[in-house]
Amino acid sequence: MFCIPKHYENDVESILIPKGLITDRIERLARNICCDVGKGPLVGLCVLKGGYQFFGDLMDRIRTINASGENSVQMSVDFIRLKSYEDDHSSGEVKIIGSDDLSSLTGKYFIFKQDIVDTGATMQKLLNTLTKFKPASIKVASLLVKRTPRSTGYRPDYIGFEIPDKFVVGYALDYNEYFRDLNHICIISETGKKKYAV
Ligand code: 5GP
Repeated sequence: MFCIPKHYENDVESILIPKGLITDRIERLARNICCDVGKGPLVGLCVLKGGYQFFGDLMDRIRTINASGENSVQMSVDFIRLKSYEDDHSSGEVKIIGSDDLSSLTGKYFIFKQDIVDTGATMQKLLNTLTKFKPASIKVASLLVKRTPRSTGYRPDYIGFEIPDKFVVGYALDYNEYFRDLNHICIISETGKKKYAV
């Protein structure tokens, strides 16, 4: 019923969320965020690489709302990548790479754009690390949240969709760097896993 790039035809089991539905949901999230934030200013933080598509589309919607509404939110952007500390370190933190200066967090209102929350461990560690810089507030928007018994119980402030406990790809979510060029969010097939295994 939908278009899949020829090179991935046998590599996905099914389309879980078509791109059009993602677009519609993002429009609602953008409106909710603008309502809650008021005048801002707001710093949008994108967690790379998986969050880039969601971040770009959400920012785009907020820009459109800003341009046409009675009220508007002033916004700037930053990009980070995460590196987990080694296990034996067990500090409950993640190493943030890519942002110029984290002291710029102090006193500001932040919203994170995350691709997917699985157990929630990454996001909890990241929030632990960031609260040390005393931002005025941090909210998290995650496009996907998995329903999994492995969950730490962490829930983002804004959730696009709750999904079953399956490995999903597409819409910038990868499997060993493949599938980022797939529009829809899909469940990877066993063939796909084997084909792109490292
Ligand atoms: P957590 O710490 O919440 O267990 O894991 C979050 C991270 O794991 C995400 O940012 C993402 O990189 C990765 N991840 C978890 N589940 C999936 C999935 O179904 N597909 C993809 N592509 N990445 C996932």
